[in-house]
Amino acid sequence: MSILIVATPGTPEGPCRGSCDHRKCHLLREIAQERCGHCGGHLGFGTKITGDPSMHLRCAQAIAATAHDPINAPVHHGHPLSEHHNIKH
Ligand SMILES: [Zn+2]
Ligand SMILES: [Zn+2]
Repeated sequence: MSILIVATPGTPEGPCRGSCDHRKCHLLREIAQERCGHCGGHLGFGTKITGDPSMHLRCAQAIAATAHDPINAPVHHGHPLSEHHNIKH
């Protein structure tokens, strides 16, 4: 997946501080103002952004982590064989 970082305003890679009329700066500020598809927060500056719809990389990773959980989690909890033992005895 592609990762995008909107650089912090005032840095060489980032938009101007405050308002300006540069097309590139408007674009960068627009991206930073977009809402994360997962947590709903602004994508922001200096943050790794990924995905479509856009979201924070950390949120995408959180989704990926929870997506794996149901497969591994509850299967070995409890003692499924104890009932059978009780029936036998
Ligand atoms: Zn500018
Ligand atoms: Zn997020």
